[in-house]
Amino acid sequence: MRWPVIARTALFLASLAGFLAGGEIAADVLIGSQRDRQLEELARVALRRSETSVDFGVATLQELVAQGGPGCEEGALQAVRLHVYQRGAVKDIRLADHDAAVQCSAFSETLEFDKGWVGRKDMLAGDGGVLLFPVEQFFGTALGAMIDIDPQRSLIGILGVGGELFDIMPAELRERSDVAITLSDGRPIARAAPAGDAALTGDVASISAASAHYPLRATIRVERAALAAWNREPYWPIMGLAGLLGAAFGLLLARNLVRPRTPLEELDRAIAHGEIKPYYQPIFDLETGAISGAEMLARWVKADGTVVPPARFIELAEESGRIRVMTWQLLRTALAELHGLMKQDKTFRLSINVSPQHFVADGFVDELRGCVSQAGVATRQITLELTERESFADPERAAAVVARVRDLGFKVAIDDVGIGHSGLSQIQLLRADSLKIDKFFVDTVGRDEAGDIMIGMLVRLAREMRMSVVAEGIEEPAQIAALIACGVASGQGYVVSPPVAAKSFLAIVEERRRQPDAGQAVAAA
Ligand code: C2E
Ligand code: CA
Ligand code: CA
Repeated sequence: MRWPVIARTALFLASLAGFLAGGEIAADVLIGSQRDRQLEELARVALRRSETSVDFGVATLQELVAQGGPGCEEGALQAVRLHVYQRGAVKDIRLADHDAAVQCSAFSETLEFDKGWVGRKDMLAGDGGVLLFPVEQFFGTALGAMIDIDPQRSLIGILGVGGELFDIMPAELRERSDVAITLSDGRPIARAAPAGDAALTGDVASISAASAHYPLRATIRVERAALAAWNREPYWPIMGLAGLLGAAFGLLLARNLVRPRTPLEELDRAIAHGEIKPYYQPIFDLETGAISGAEMLARWVKADGTVVPPARFIELAEESGRIRVMTWQLLRTALAELHGLMKQDKTFRLSINVSPQHFVADGFVDELRGCVSQAGVATRQITLELTERESFADPERAAAVVARVRDLGFKVAIDDVGIGHSGLSQIQLLRADSLKIDKFFVDTVGRDEAGDIMIGMLVRLAREMRMSVVAEGIEEPAQIAALIACGVASGQGYVVSPPVAAKSFLAIVEERRRQPDAGQAVAAA
């Protein structure tokens, strides 16, 4: 798998995982808040039912108060019993004094069920002048509601609220929860608990609702473990949606972020990472074989070691303008790599290829000067190769730049002579220091008369104009002899070495120094 495939898959999976994790959180939050709302609503239902019981109780008592309040005589109690009979929530009605001491009861037997009785000071006030209090009985607790008939007498209703609570919780939670009604100070009134009154276990959630009319509060407590499994219907739809969104987002992300880089982006990356490196090909004296210099040729050395030839990226670099930054980067590197050699041998010349558009660009000469002087190398040790393959848009300006750089001491060579479109007029106008004869003529030297005539003509032209000649692309020792016969003095080609990295190039130079005869042997062959 290539890395973009891996990166894309990773992005896709990361997006999917991110959305699913988000969906999980969202589902939990949503389900949790929905659950909280439902539990709050259930607490309010429990509270409303108790309030309704109190409302009924209070209404019953108020009816009796409106009739002047009953007495304790049997006839009056008979009428009160009818009221109790008609009102489900009212279990008993008692006549008491101002401080709640019971005088008589509609159902006097119920007094025997009482386990405790509170005084007026332990009652809590609610709407309509009612005072509420717990009535502890042997079978549980009831709610007492007292209203005054007059300053001496009060009427008390015994209300049952527990019976209204058992069906409040949904069946799934009923065995794992309880519902309690208390007075606002916490004294218990009624409770619906799991069968057998088993205690709730584990972590318990508790939700309360308080009455605005009476001192009453309803509290629901549920085991959290039971809650977690309750009402999870939205979970899978939410997770499904999250998965879909994650997949869609992941696809978009993968497509946009990991689209293959354009060739220009690749080139920019290569320049930024210093992957465009100078290689060096020796330029040698045809007679002696001595290495007099080198041509710097760009190579794109990729991280995996692949070496890409300039034909694959120079054109793009020229079209995009990247050739400028690239050329300076290459020159700085070359000057650093060959610094020792060029300091030691002041006749050694480094040739660099300069694109025509770069050569005539503003600031070219200043930058060149800066580069070379910073490296502490003499300007005469640098040759600028200008290709003849494309002609200058403004030959006069090009000639002016040539004159300027030559004034500064730099050497100028016209490259690829004989195969360009510009012809001899450009050579004449530019006034360079040397001509480089293209491999096209060198290939047939000594074997093709027309080619040899062309070489001889260029050699004579060069001599007339005080230029030297370098022959390019020499592959066979026989070509060396033929070129010497044509009057060419120096050359370059695989016969000595292809372009190589600095380390190998310096090794070749060193080797030639130690065995000067090796070169001559080639030249003589
Ligand atoms: P060029 O300036 O004419 O460079 C000579 C080319 O001939 C080089 O190709 C070199 O490797 C090749 N060559 C040398 N001797 C032989 C030989 O004996 N046999 C054969 N078959 N080939 C030989 P390379 O390095 O591939 O460069 C191609 C062209 O790319 C260069 O042609 C030059 O125009 C351009 N180039 C290379 N580096 C740069 C650079 O840094 N800047 C610019 N502007 N152009 C560059
Ligand atoms: Ca060249
Ligand atoms: Ca050339």
